[in-house]
Amino acid sequence: MFYNDKPRQSIFEYIESIECGLNKFRLLSLFGGINGFLEQIRIENNIAAPVPELRIEHSDNIQSEGAFCIYMTTGAINLCLNASGSPLKSTLGFEIPNNPFNYNLIGKTAVRWILAHEYYHIMYHDGYWNDHITGHALELDADMCATAIIYRAYQQMYGKIITDDRDLRCLVLYCLFSVLRSLPSDSGSGNHPTLAMRLRFIKSKLSSLRKNQKHRPDVLYQTKESHDAYSRLLMCLHNCEMIYIQSHPKHSHSSTLLKEIYEIELNYTFSEITQRWNEIAARIRPPLFESFYAPLE
Ligand SMILES: [Zn+2]
Repeated sequence: MFYNDKPRQSIFEYIESIECGLNKFRLLSLFGGINGFLEQIRIENNIAAPVPELRIEHSDNIQSEGAFCIYMTTGAINLCLNASGSPLKSTLGFEIPNNPFNYNLIGKTAVRWILAHEYYHIMYHDGYWNDHITGHALELDADMCATAIIYRAYQQMYGKIITDDRDLRCLVLYCLFSVLRSLPSDSGSGNHPTLAMRLRFIKSKLSSLRKNQKHRPDVLYQTKESHDAYSRLLMCLHNCEMIYIQSHPKHSHSSTLLKEIYEIELNYTFSEITQRWNEIAARIRPPLFESFYAPLE
């Protein structure tokens, strides 16, 4: 929980309180349509209770929490607001077609992913935070559920103009990478798994989701669709990190991210977490559909 004197605000109150017209506009654009997005998550998960209220916390911490409300700090909002740059053709392998949503696409994706992550904690994870390993399993579950819902939202938005579905998956990965990579330090402390572990599971989730939402996720990549998506996403992740290193020269010698991700894949260093998930998953929710069914391997 956060500790400071400034009262929490609703997102509407927060945007109203911003004096600079340009920043107000940027915030409106960042949060535009957010209620509909959260409502979509509620409906997809068959939850009767209304969407929890979003409260803005005045703090430089880049942090969000979910309890009865979804809390987002002004630090996290600023991170999303400043997530500048548009996806590069050299990284993605294709040019993203013009769409009004493209303005600060990375920031908008990040806001939605962060809020979805917290909402999934509220919906499913309350009462299970027993220890470190369970915490990691729940964090990765929230990451993957949030990733799935972003992918479906992108399908609705871009599905008709980005015709190769693998491109769409890469676009989601690119946006999530850009924000997670820009966090000040590796968030492997506390309950959060390392950045390498989180990206590994985001990539796996994006590979296993089927283009047709009615089809069960292919967690072993046995279909051509998932197998191809896996290869493309691995290449995309590699490109994302190479571009990141090029634009942050001081990291070029110290970055071990790709090495860490390959080690996770080769040595199954996630097996303790996946084992824990398998023990608790049935109590958390029935494996009915992709939103409910977020296998950790
Ligand atoms: Zn979390």
